[in-house]
Amino acid sequence: MQNILVVGGAGYIGSHMVWLLGQHGVQAVTLDNLVAGHRDAVLHGELRVGDVADRALLDQILDSQRFDAVMHFASFIQVGESVLDPAKYYRNNVATTLTLLDAMRDHGVRQFVFSSTAALFGEPAYTPIDEKHPLQPINPYGRSKWMVEQVLADYARAYGLQSVCLRYFNAAGAHPQGLLGERHEPETHLIPLVLQAATGRRSHVTVFGRDYDTPDGTCIRDYVHVMDLADAHWLALQYLARGGTAGAFNLGNGNGYSVQEVVDTARRVTGRDIAVREGPRRAGDPARLVADAALARQVLGWQPRHGSLEAIVRDAWQWECRAGGPAPRRPPEPA
Ligand code: UDP
Repeated sequence: MQNILVVGGAGYIGSHMVWLLGQHGVQAVTLDNLVAGHRDAVLHGELRVGDVADRALLDQILDSQRFDAVMHFASFIQVGESVLDPAKYYRNNVATTLTLLDAMRDHGVRQFVFSSTAALFGEPAYTPIDEKHPLQPINPYGRSKWMVEQVLADYARAYGLQSVCLRYFNAAGAHPQGLLGERHEPETHLIPLVLQAATGRRSHVTVFGRDYDTPDGTCIRDYVHVMDLADAHWLALQYLARGGTAGAFNLGNGNGYSVQEVVDTARRVTGRDIAVREGPRRAGDPARLVADAALARQVLGWQPRHGSLEAIVRDAWQWECRAGGPAPRRPPEPA
């Protein structure tokens, strides 16, 4: 039976992965410092609370049992914060990952799945974005992920440490049975913010810019369901297990939806009014990010199953209603 170390397995995407490993009958150990993760999100295997920067702890975990592979979900993800405090991002996302990789090398664990990002591409030269698109990240967050991708290519050549980098476009949605979902603090992502406005937990959502070169003027993104991302990680593990060599794959549905379309879809799915305010552009936001995921389909056999924005928003809404208690009822229409 495979045994997987999941670093950051108590976080949003990591917790869905750990659950999926359980469904596949695979053993898992989660290592998470619970700074952003949640203890009750780890629904399978063992949870070790600790920091991946702690080499002694890593040695202890890697000595205690044999692992076939490591999956690494633990990183800081806020673009704006990375501009203001790059040290935090290079320390946590780069230096800490080196500690993990060196521990793996020293313990003979040679398979690694890494959470990368569409932020590697910066302002796109063309869309949809395939893996040949130039890498030109425009913020420290994107650069931190790019650095790790380069390290991984070198570690594959020198140490035989084979890795798959999965470049997520916009991760969204929640466990379809409502077991897990997105719980960032503070929340910065569009879909949960829009849905929190629908529950009444927020008064409104602000649209960051309506003057982009897109049909309705708002930014276009490729939203990909968190369970489809977890499936891609599962396939990446199998790819490495059958001798696949280091590579990077873009993960998205290939469908772009504007911020306005997300709000409209959320109004339809929830049946609620969602108050919208207009705000200025957010620094570092490209107008359009849409994935060409043909390579992941071909090489990994990835087949996203929850591709429609409607399905993504529906699952996120189910979670939002549970996470925040029963949603307030829509006020009666005036007669
Ligand atoms: N966005 C917005 N208002 C918000 C949060 C996000 O208009 O309160 C926009 C943001 O400018 C981007 C899209 O929604 O165009 C998705 O942003 P998110 O932060 O969810 O993901 P990102 O694209 O930054 O990974």
